[in-house]
Amino acid sequence: MKLGAMINDIFESIFKHPVTEHYPFERKETPSQFRGQLQWNRENCTGCGLCAKDCPANAIEVIVLDRKAKQFVFHYNVDHCLFCAQCVHSCRQGCLSMQPQLWELAALSRDGYQLYYGNENDIQTYLASQTAAEPAATPRPAVQPVALD
Ligand code: SF4
Ligand code: SF4
Repeated sequence: MKLGAMINDIFESIFKHPVTEHYPFERKETPSQFRGQLQWNRENCTGCGLCAKDCPANAIEVIVLDRKAKQFVFHYNVDHCLFCAQCVHSCRQGCLSMQPQLWELAALSRDGYQLYYGNENDIQTYLASQTAAEPAATPRPAVQPVALD
């Protein structure tokens, strides 16, 4: 590189704004199609389980407590999820979406990566049945219920 061109580059660099983003103090809006954390809307859910069947990572479990009463618990294993959106495409009722704004999922421990969506009472009923079925010495995973109403 010629000396003149080098000096030119140096002066240009001095007066340019840095390209580095000051994350987490400055955040850019994520694209609307970005695949963030999975969300479940139980309004139209039939409990068919197709989303769980098609999930390549076994990240979903649909627990049917009472199909007629539409009592479902949607168990989402965030740290198993590949964010492929197969479940979103598989659901014929449009119950699933990947929230573009929920993408900061890194953590120092796996606590909180077990999400339970649904009615709070249904979640507690399901978790209580699981506890009763487990041998006493088996440690329980960390649980983060997400009540929808
Ligand atoms: S996004 Fe993919 S890996 Fe994650 S729960 Fe849905 S189907 Fe499974
Ligand atoms: S595929 Fe849709 S309707 Fe069927 S259990 Fe999953 S979320 Fe519910």
